[in-house]
Amino acid sequence: MSKILNDFLTSQLNGLKEQGLYNEINVVTGPNGPKINIEGNDLINLSSNNYLGLATHEKLKEVAKQAIDSHGVGSGAVRTINGTLDLHVELENKLAEFKGTEAAVAFQSGFNCNMAAIQAIMNKEDAILSDELNHASIIDGCRLSRAKIIRVKHSDMDDLRMKAKEAVESGNYNKVMYITDGVFSMDGDVALLPEIVEIAKEFDLITYVDDAHGSGVMGKGAGTVKHFGLEKEIDIQMGTLSKAIGVVGGYVAGTQELIDYLTVAARPFLFSTSLTPADTRAIIEAVQTLMDSTELHDKLWENGDYLKKGLKELGFNIGNSETPITPCIIGEEKLTQEFSKRLMEEGVYAKSIVFPTVPRGTGRVRNMPTAAHTKEMLDEALKIYEKVGKELGVIS
Ligand code: PMP
Repeated sequence: MSKILNDFLTSQLNGLKEQGLYNEINVVTGPNGPKINIEGNDLINLSSNNYLGLATHEKLKEVAKQAIDSHGVGSGAVRTINGTLDLHVELENKLAEFKGTEAAVAFQSGFNCNMAAIQAIMNKEDAILSDELNHASIIDGCRLSRAKIIRVKHSDMDDLRMKAKEAVESGNYNKVMYITDGVFSMDGDVALLPEIVEIAKEFDLITYVDDAHGSGVMGKGAGTVKHFGLEKEIDIQMGTLSKAIGVVGGYVAGTQELIDYLTVAARPFLFSTSLTPADTRAIIEAVQTLMDSTELHDKLWENGDYLKKGLKELGFNIGNSETPITPCIIGEEKLTQEFSKRLMEEGVYAKSIVFPTVPRGTGRVRNMPTAAHTKEMLDEALKIYEKVGKELGVIS
């Protein structure tokens, strides 16, 4: 190995380990359901984005197997050669119907979808106003576009108005976009979309909402934009197919012109092989399941409310979440990591999240209850929380 590379890797890894930032990977044996098996231990799983339990849904598994029989395991090419299967077209029509837009386009992951769409639409003559807590894939998409990036204080509408005015009135940019998560995954709070739309109208901003954590959760399942009835106002709705939908992939939904443009300009659409038949078929079934019934959505919220109430009654600080995402804010980084480790030893898998993902001193154990959890599992988790919380002096 090159000496320079060797020295670089060693110093990087040692630095991360010294700061307690080297993430140990937990390997899950078997399905990622409400209970998971890690290193032989069955644990109550409060750390997965499988909000509706669809990742292990029987019907989705069945249709995925059928799609392998009818279409094979791979799609064979990128979308623009011959990797656009009838299943992809069916999925995109279904997504547009689900999101209440004219059209939609699917990508291989939510991450590459953000990088693709932002880069395709914005360029170095433009500016992007971006909420400071936006997801890493948004940050990378903004960087890739080479537009001027202007960070906006989290959900601070005065800051947004001021920076939008400044950017537009400077005359330095051809286009100005405001981009935000719909639901913020670290705190479970919701973007102030009605106010954002008002400001966007005032300054002719392009609006882009990443609803990775809102789809399936907000708006009776159809997402945060639908929750506020703003389908006609938000220009670009992006989402993942890997969280509530339970499979893998990402999408953009919007006008026919927007989607037509992305199919000629979004680089992963042009240069990366499309979603597999099994995944695509399972996603179609998942979206249809959400469109047919709110049963799973309702169960998710019932479980979220139940866990929140239980943790609050025990005396934990659960922040200001407006969604089932339930942070349990511990504070100091080392204590947060110890808390999560002790939970795991007692039977609950709830991952700690510390700086730099969240600000210093706001370390938390983040809980993601799902529609697939039973009351018994949540009661058991609460019992363990109480035990560990008292043991480590987090609650009295
Ligand atoms: N956007 C947000 C807000 C996310 O939380 C995530 C996933 N962590 C992504 C995009 C990327 O989605 P995916 O995992 O489907 O690539």
